[in-house]
Amino acid sequence: MTTINLRHVLGALAAASLSLRGSLALVLPSNSLRSVTIESSSALHSAVGDPEISLNPIVASVKVSKTVEIFSLVKQMEADGESVTSLCVGEPDFLPPQAVLDAAMAAINDGDTRYTAVTGTAPLREAIAADLKRRKGLEYNPQTEIIVGNGAKQCVYQSILAICGPGDAVIIPAPYWPSYPEMVALAGAESIVVETTAESGYLVTPEKLRIILEKHPNVKGLILCNPSNPTGGVYRKDDLEAVADVLKDFPNVAIVADEIYERLVYDEECTAFASMKGMFSRTMTINGFSKAYAMTGMRLGYVAAPQRLAKAITTIQSQLTSCAGSISQAAGVAALTLVTDDELEANVKIMKEKRDYVLGELEKMPGVSVAMPPNGAFYVLPDVSGYFGGDDAELCLQLLKSQKLAIVPGSSFGAPGTVRISYATSMQELQTAMQKFGDFLSEQT
Ligand code: PLP
Repeated sequence: MTTINLRHVLGALAAASLSLRGSLALVLPSNSLRSVTIESSSALHSAVGDPEISLNPIVASVKVSKTVEIFSLVKQMEADGESVTSLCVGEPDFLPPQAVLDAAMAAINDGDTRYTAVTGTAPLREAIAADLKRRKGLEYNPQTEIIVGNGAKQCVYQSILAICGPGDAVIIPAPYWPSYPEMVALAGAESIVVETTAESGYLVTPEKLRIILEKHPNVKGLILCNPSNPTGGVYRKDDLEAVADVLKDFPNVAIVADEIYERLVYDEECTAFASMKGMFSRTMTINGFSKAYAMTGMRLGYVAAPQRLAKAITTIQSQLTSCAGSISQAAGVAALTLVTDDELEANVKIMKEKRDYVLGELEKMPGVSVAMPPNGAFYVLPDVSGYFGGDDAELCLQLLKSQKLAIVPGSSFGAPGTVRISYATSMQELQTAMQKFGDFLSEQT
């Protein structure tokens, strides 16, 4: 993978250098071209490539997202004229609802292009609070307990940063979304990754949780992703209650409840962790508009948290980005006030058909198994440990090379021997992908 990557990066740099020279040639008289080109490129080199500049050691401890890395590689391969089938990114293939697009256009036309309050516009915060009350029975004060950010990702990071720093620890059940441990590292804290099983619904068991909390008094947070990326699992309410019961004995532990996929559930209810008895006052609920409303590029998410935590998150956001984009926020209001439940349900129904198709195809493949059929989100995490001696990264690399099919190695989600497949793409693309995957695996036996 590194070789391909390097080759593409080098190619891109060469192209950039050529275009720089080309544009200079257009604006400068020919006799000045040579000297100016050399001066500008050497100035660039000393600024960018200076080996004397030491980097923040935290950066060295943080990994680049594997999903993003593979996705960039796919984009580069496509730019090189190769046709790649990609099931690696968690992005719905449908457009946002028309009301959302119209609201974004109206915001542009109305010149709604200014900074907003750090925590977001009042109409958006009010719409979020009303939505949480209507669907989850949770009561948040829109003035002090809702913070709108540039995507759920930023909201997760700010929530982690609000509760922990050097010397602190955060519990992350595996399989996990790869950004969690890296965000904890960015905060200077330590991750305690806890293995889970399909039988326990991929949730840390109460017994295990108690042992860890007793052993590590420096634990400041627990991250719960429900429904889960990458397993697609939806936590059962009674299991969440059992976790909450343990947490009652450890009042210093906050919960980052990442519920960004909560509207994408099949035959299942997603229970908000903040609704568990005694948990409201220490839960930071993360949600956003990327998945249910397909607004990935609009970068809009939020965190709902009790006032003290919300204030800390607001302070962080005020110094990092000021506020989310005003146009996206106007679109977010439309998403929550104009898009009907039926409209969203229609997308969920289509997603469920895709899930069923993928599960059916995987079932036909020898040596591939799915421990717990996913009931939410749009991922499936099949076990493929019988191939490539369990080296899932090698499997993904060979698959990309030979079949031009991109999926993500499970080891980057703390689940070695598996691969993560995102089925949030067109049925046609899924059919091609499953054919390629089946062909590839049968060539290995
Ligand atoms: N949380 C989880 C579990 C995700 O899978 C993702 C995106 O893939 C995010 C948060 C980030 O979403 P957003 O696009 O709102 O930043």
